[in-house]
Amino acid sequence: MAPEPGAERTNQDGQNLSPTNGETAEPMLAPEWSLAIHGGAGSARRDTTDAEDYYQALRDVLSLGSEQLAAGEASLRVVEEVVATLEDDPRFNAGRGAVFTFVGTHEMDAAIMDGRTLAVGAVAGVKNVQNPVRLARRVMEESDHVLLSGPGADDFAAYVGARRQPQAYFTTEPQLERFRELRARRSAAASTDGDATARADGNDTGNAGVPVDFGGASHLATVGAVAMDRYGNLAAATSTGGTMLKRVGRVGDVPVIGAGTYANNETAAISCTGRGEEFIRHTVAHDVSALIEYASLSVEDAVQKVIRETLKPGDGGIIAVGRNGAIAMEFNTNAMFRGAADSLGRFDVGIWEDVRGGRP
Ligand code: ASP
Repeated sequence: MAPEPGAERTNQDGQNLSPTNGETAEPMLAPEWSLAIHGGAGSARRDTTDAEDYYQALRDVLSLGSEQLAAGEASLRVVEEVVATLEDDPRFNAGRGAVFTFVGTHEMDAAIMDGRTLAVGAVAGVKNVQNPVRLARRVMEESDHVLLSGPGADDFAAYVGARRQPQAYFTTEPQLERFRELRARRSAAASTDGDATARADGNDTGNAGVPVDFGGASHLATVGAVAMDRYGNLAAATSTGGTMLKRVGRVGDVPVIGAGTYANNETAAISCTGRGEEFIRHTVAHDVSALIEYASLSVEDAVQKVIRETLKPGDGGIIAVGRNGAIAMEFNTNAMFRGAADSLGRFDVGIWEDVRGGRP
C-alpha cells in the first residue's frame, strides 16, 4: 500500500528513506512519487517560434506520466510510456523525427534500466523499430543479453513482434531540411580545406575534418525520463536518433549503460543528453550514482558536480531522481527541454533557465 504523504518510507532493507532537515532533525516532506523528463539539451534560439509547442508537448507527457505514477503504476512502465510517447512525437529526435546519418539514413539508440533489480535492456543502431525504448525493454525481459545492435537488433524486433516501420516513417521535413543544409555546409568546408575524408558523395560516412554544427534546434530533442514510484523503485529510460551527420555505425552514450542511462534504487535514476562521446568518456550517469554512493553527495550536488566539474560547457544536460524522490536537472548548454513533477504538487516545464508551472 502506498504510504501517507510525508510518512516515513523505508526501502527493502528497512533503511529510512525520508530525508531529514540537518539542523532540526525534523523529518521533511518526501514525495511519494517523482518524475523528471528531458527532450534534449543543446543550443536553442530564444526567438524560436515553436517554443510554445515544445512547452505543451512537455506538459502533456509530464501529465501522462504523473497520472500513471499517482495511480500506482511502476516507474519502469512509466518511463517506458513517457519515452515511447516522445518517440512518436515527430518534434523530438527519437523514433519518428530522428536525425540523419551522413548518408541520409536513421539509426536509433535506446535504453531502459530498472533500479530495483539492475535489470537493463538497450538497442543501438536500429533502423526499423517504431519505439526503440520498447524494444530495449524486450531485450531486458525476453533475451539473455543487455545490448543488441544493428541488423541483429532489428531481427530481434521482428522475432518478438515489435512494431516496425520503414525508414521513411522516421523522416520529417524539418530534419530533412537541416540535414541537407548541414551536409552542403560540410561539403563546402571540405572542398575549401581540400579534405578528402569528408566527401559529400555518400562514400564517406565520417565526421573527420569538419566539425559538426552542434547548434540549432535539431540537436535538442533526444528524450529521457527518470522516475520514482510509490513503492520507492527507481527507473530510467533514454532514446535518441543520435547526432546529425554521424558516421554510419556510430553508437552514442544512450544505450551505453552508465554513460547516458543508469538506475539503482540505492542511489538514483539518471538520464543524460548531449555530446554522447563525452558522456561515454566520463561514464557520466554512473558517476552521478557513484558520487551518491561513495561520497554521500545528494542527488542535486552529484549532478551539479558532474555538469560543472567533469563535463565542459556545451556538453549537455542530466536529469535524475534520487532515492528519496528529490529531482535534479542541470545543463551546461544554453537550453534543455525538461519537466518535473511529484506527488507534493510540483509540476513545471522549462527550456532555458525559465521554469513554468501549471498543469495543461
Ligand atoms: N546523447 C545523444 C548522442 O550522442 C545525443 C543527444 O543527447 O542529443 O547520441
